[in-house]
Amino acid sequence: MGSENEIYRIDSERLRATLDASSEIGRFETGLKRLALTDEDKEMRDLFVSWGREAGFDVKVDAVGNIFIRREGIDPSLPPVMMGSHLDTTIRGGRYDGILGVLSGLEVLRSLEDQGIQTQRSIEVVDWSDEEGARFNTSMIGSFAFTGKLGIEEIYAKTDAAGKRFVDELERIGYRGDAPVGGRPVDSCIELHIEQGPELDEEGLDIGLVTGSYSVRGFRLAFEGETSHVGPTPMDRRRNALAAAGYMIAAVNDIGLKHAPEGGKTTCARIDVWPNLYGIVPSKAELSIDYRHPEEEKVEVMRRELEEALDYATDRARVTAKTIATWRFGDNDFDAEMVDEMRKLAPRITSRTKEMLSQAGHDAYTLAGIAPTVMIFTPCKGGITHNTAEDIDFDRTIPGVELLLNLVVSRANRSV
Ligand SMILES: [Zn+2]
Repeated sequence: MGSENEIYRIDSERLRATLDASSEIGRFETGLKRLALTDEDKEMRDLFVSWGREAGFDVKVDAVGNIFIRREGIDPSLPPVMMGSHLDTTIRGGRYDGILGVLSGLEVLRSLEDQGIQTQRSIEVVDWSDEEGARFNTSMIGSFAFTGKLGIEEIYAKTDAAGKRFVDELERIGYRGDAPVGGRPVDSCIELHIEQGPELDEEGLDIGLVTGSYSVRGFRLAFEGETSHVGPTPMDRRRNALAAAGYMIAAVNDIGLKHAPEGGKTTCARIDVWPNLYGIVPSKAELSIDYRHPEEEKVEVMRRELEEALDYATDRARVTAKTIATWRFGDNDFDAEMVDEMRKLAPRITSRTKEMLSQAGHDAYTLAGIAPTVMIFTPCKGGITHNTAEDIDFDRTIPGVELLLNLVVSRANRSV
């Protein structure tokens, strides 16, 4: 076991080579297209698993395709410390979103092994299955399953745009594993992730100590009107579902702009319209609305404003609306003790740090519901992400990975 005062270092050239190898799989323009359960995802998973086995670690795959690479602790009966993120990308994704977290976790395990550092608890690095939700329309599938927030049968039945089922695709790529999904104690979780915003990069900082997250809510509305002819039907007799969605979209954006000075954000990211044909007043529109704010009470204020906007939209367009799906995340706080430990360790690695809140959704939010959890952010150039132009400054990434290593060791060796 290392002494209290030692700061451990990683092998940065090996991490660079690992990231470079990942950047070749599913290459798309300057980024990646590596959707969950595709051939590219399989190729990356295979490589990740082979790296784990070559280093002599135990590798397990559970029934939804989560991959766990484990370095055994002195007392294997103690719950493990987990580091995890995701290796899948969106349709036009970057080379680092999620990937950096998983491959940094692997580098942590390799560094511990190289340097002969023993830990009391076992340490696992996890590739959470299908985090992006870009293919089966549900994000964080793997961590939701692990924490019991989504049932396995429900996940298996999900289909992509071509009608292919999750379970069949999982089976096809060979990652329907035999380890049970969740149901085992976890000591703690640490997720390293690129910031996905511009703050660290623009302020010349290297590590974001993530103390908590934005409260995120969302819902999907179905507007129901009636089809009619776009010519003869008088304006005041129409029941135009698309018009209602239009009033709503503008109002949602205005609400976001109103709360922007305090960090509020709103988005309509998807709309589906029926029959979506020339000459016909649309009878149905489905609209997804996302809203988020650093303060939970303000999310509630935004919710009331969205409801008022919805009343106006339905009255004006003479349609009805019902909520067909809702979601929320970011309500589980990160662990105060772990945040404190991070605050102590970070200045010993770099002075270029700041505390911040996470704004995007992450597997860590889900895991915070079952175990003490915290996140570490590293800078990404211009905050560009979910984009093939996503990029990092490698030298400014190392301090965050070293914080991950030292935090994991301190956590895995703390007295019971
Ligand atoms: Zn991500």
